[in-house]
Amino acid sequence: MNVTEKAAYLKGLAEGLAIDSSTPEGKLLLTMVDVMGEMADTIAEMSEMIDDLNDVVDELDEDLGELEADYYAFDEDMDEEDEEDFDGGALYEVTCANCGDKIYLDDENLKEGSIECPSCGKTLEFSYDESDDFDEDDNEAETEE
Ligand SMILES: [Zn+2]
Repeated sequence: MNVTEKAAYLKGLAEGLAIDSSTPEGKLLLTMVDVMGEMADTIAEMSEMIDDLNDVVDELDEDLGELEADYYAFDEDMDEEDEEDFDGGALYEVTCANCGDKIYLDDENLKEGSIECPSCGKTLEFSYDESDDFDEDDNEAETEE
């Protein structure tokens, strides 16, 4: 018996006992039976809502799982060069004159003016335009004092 059925059973009992609602005790008992019936209805409604919410949460959880799977699949697809591109900020791409591999340079490499190709080991020299604004602030700080 669930709570709704128990409340209905209680109401039946009260009616069977022919409780006299004109007495204070009878009025109290009948009111209690009424209130319990309403509470049972409310609890039943809430149980239904919770079931529905659980279904929604399950669906959201599944959808999120799919999104996560897609996202991490995408993340793994990115090769190292892409990752460097994403978190490196000022990266410059040069092509090795010896082996044709692409090499990514950061600020330090640019200041040094040369880099050893990670693929073939040949030292590559390069120059860059000083007016590039990526380290203009550094240059100003050095010359102002
Ligand atoms: Zn090379």
